[in-house]
Amino acid sequence: MNKEGHVLNAVLLGIGLGYILEPAGDFSTFRTIAEVTIPVTLGALFPDVDTAFGRHRKTLHNFLVLGVFLAYPFVFDNLQFVWLGVLTHYMLDLAGSKRGLALFYPWDKEFNLPVGVSTSSKYANLATLLITGAELLIIGLLVLYAPAYVPQELIDHGTTALGV
Ligand SMILES: [Zn+2]
Repeated sequence: MNKEGHVLNAVLLGIGLGYILEPAGDFSTFRTIAEVTIPVTLGALFPDVDTAFGRHRKTLHNFLVLGVFLAYPFVFDNLQFVWLGVLTHYMLDLAGSKRGLALFYPWDKEFNLPVGVSTSSKYANLATLLITGAELLIIGLLVLYAPAYVPQELIDHGTTALGV
């Protein structure tokens, strides 16, 4: 997926998350959107830095990199929500494009899902919208029915939906 797709995905995800976590549609919703959208968008742009440094779809498209961003808020109390952008970047590449990712890099093998359109396809934006919708559905269902599986970070920052 290209930069346009990743930014579209991240911004829509941030807006959707705001409404999932703080559904009232009031100031708290917009505060959550503002809080989440920028770090998620930055995270969604990060993996493709490996087009310039390292090997594309390998060096920065793997679980090790995701783990670093997941650990950062715990270790340094910094970079909250950036991991979500990195994760959604991987999901969009896996489900939305033809080529796979070397998820276990430095092992070179690239993994892929048997769906997706070529990056230059006129359906690329449609694929991005469908994948974003599926992601928001999964997050929404988790928040509603299985909050124990929702990362603590999201619960801490959006409490209305969970009634706490
Ligand atoms: Zn990528």
